[in-house]
Amino acid sequence: MADQARCIRCSAVLLKDEIALTRKLVNRGADKFYCLRCLADHYGLSEDILRQKIAYFKAMGCTLFK
Ligand SMILES: [Zn+2]
Repeated sequence: MADQARCIRCSAVLLKDEIALTRKLVNRGADKFYCLRCLADHYGLSEDILRQKIAYFKAMGCTLFK
């Protein structure tokens, strides 16, 4: 079993959606990931906005969010 992915900034255990969103926002091939809170902080966005983006990308059928 692989170790659970953790946020490289705050070490929070990551959800699949957070990993997918990092790939979407940062780099498709990213192997370092951020939790929602750190992504929000990094981009100066609210966590709510990022949750809306996740919902949007899922609705668009983005394969990263499978
Ligand atoms: Zn974090």
